[in-house]
Amino acid sequence: MPSSILTFNIHPADLQRRRQRCAPVVERLSKYDRTQATRCNVCDSPRYAVLSTHDRYGFPARTAVCLQCGLIYVVDRFTPKGYSDFYNDGCYREMISQFKAKRQTIAAIDKAQIAYTAGLIASMKGYLPGASGARLLDIGGSTGYVANEFQKHFGLRATLIEPSSEEVAAARKLGLDAHVASLEDFRCEEQFDVILLCRTIEHLYDLKLSMTRIRDLLKPGGIFYCDIAEFMEICRREGPPEAITKIDHTYWLTQETARGIFATLGFQIAGAHLTLPPDQLGFLLQKAEPTAPAQLASSVLDPMLRTFREVATDWQRFGTDPEDAVDWIRQRAYTLKKKIAA
Ligand SMILES: [Zn+2]
Repeated sequence: MPSSILTFNIHPADLQRRRQRCAPVVERLSKYDRTQATRCNVCDSPRYAVLSTHDRYGFPARTAVCLQCGLIYVVDRFTPKGYSDFYNDGCYREMISQFKAKRQTIAAIDKAQIAYTAGLIASMKGYLPGASGARLLDIGGSTGYVANEFQKHFGLRATLIEPSSEEVAAARKLGLDAHVASLEDFRCEEQFDVILLCRTIEHLYDLKLSMTRIRDLLKPGGIFYCDIAEFMEICRREGPPEAITKIDHTYWLTQETARGIFATLGFQIAGAHLTLPPDQLGFLLQKAEPTAPAQLASSVLDPMLRTFREVATDWQRFGTDPEDAVDWIRQRAYTLKKKIAA
């Protein structure tokens, strides 16, 4: 069976089929309140390059990259109320279920989550501040598995915030101090020694505001752990931006842009965590004075834009190959039939 040297997880024909399955849900998305973000949330630059006009679900929401700081962001987005409706009325879960052809249920503690948490703990030993009883805040902490493991291994006292009441109920069952809240509406006078933002930064509505809030909640000398879904590596694995962007991932960072973006938002990198799967990258951050937004060097920006074009070309080429053995047999049978007919 012939195969491309370069392969991607999502075949172009497969993306079309997934989008067809999502179409009825995508239709329903038009009812939510919409808005446009035509300036970069971090550096306020209006200079941009559009990477895709539709997201992976086929929803007409543009994703662009800021030509000053390199932040990747959804331009055509829902309003905060729109996102709240989207997450809470079942559309979000239904869309993912259709895209993956697999029913999404409340986040179960799966093998991946256990491995993820074990990896974090193994790499952070000795790097976290505070004696036993130091305070931990897990933002978007879901059902509390990570926070609970951090309590056990580091002797921290954990507080968790999470917008889903179903997941907060599960976290409370573990005995955690869990609150139904988003970062924007979480009111708390105390500060924390350690703050976690695990696999969440892409979902924030206002990145700059959220990071300012995290700085306020972090004790001087405290550690803020944040990991990113690394956009460039995901492109290499899945396909061009149209195959990976999504209305619910309002922001994306990359290995090359993270340092400057964090600096503008008032954090310096104290450590990096490269033992996660290759499409994720973790950072240990400390508070610093926010720096003025700097122009991303053309030696970084140009290869980034070039990579998107190269990935698109490779992906299109990949699309001319049969998807799998069944597809290959189908194509061969069709060719044979045509030959016989001729
Ligand atoms: Zn920017």
